[in-house]
Amino acid sequence: MRAANEAAILPEAAPDYDHACRRCPRLATFLDEVKREHPDYWCLPVPPFGPIGAPLLIVGLAPGMHGANATGRAFTGDYAGILLYETLHDFAFGSAPVAVSRDDGLTLSACRISNAVKCLPPGNKPLPVEVATCSRYLAVDVAALPPGAAMLALGRIAHEAALRVLGLPLRLHPFAHGARHAVSDGLTLFDSYHCSRYNTNTGRLTRAMFRDVFRDVARHLGRAAPER
Ligand code: SF4
Repeated sequence: MRAANEAAILPEAAPDYDHACRRCPRLATFLDEVKREHPDYWCLPVPPFGPIGAPLLIVGLAPGMHGANATGRAFTGDYAGILLYETLHDFAFGSAPVAVSRDDGLTLSACRISNAVKCLPPGNKPLPVEVATCSRYLAVDVAALPPGAAMLALGRIAHEAALRVLGLPLRLHPFAHGARHAVSDGLTLFDSYHCSRYNTNTGRLTRAMFRDVFRDVARHLGRAAPER
């Protein structure tokens, strides 16, 4: 699977992750500050998790301060990871329903998780330029997708980051929970509200709603899905 504007985004032999990346000065400085306060935290860009080229690519927003930024693994320790990993396990993408740490033995199959922004942003709010800068890594994951693959965007920012990587106009593919977009070469982009603490506590996103989206994804990929 090749993104429409891949040539414009990908330098030669682009990596999918660089633990030493400091391309976003505001985020790099913030990580330095957090590291001084929490020396035991990861406080580096958080790498994607799961096999590259898997048929499902989940795109989140960014690491949480005391979750993925602390553990160094996507959604691990984040409140949002509770529902995500439980659901991944129920749909046979994850080997365990709970993610605790980078060395807890949990593995993903046929699924990879990446964030639109790989470094912790202040207030969980990355700047548009930071999303654009970090898209160089997301573009590698998108380029590795096999024919017929699915992307699942968790929230509007992830949705828009995916579209930009694909070189597609946002107005043709508006974000909506439960929506699916045929974007290119058999690639389908699914949307869900982000499984954040705010969205789940307010009922904006329920467990049933989230599972319905995964059911659509599983059906698209020709996989069995659990009963409700
Ligand atoms: S957010 Fe992405 S591009 Fe920016 S410094 Fe972190 S890894 Fe690099």
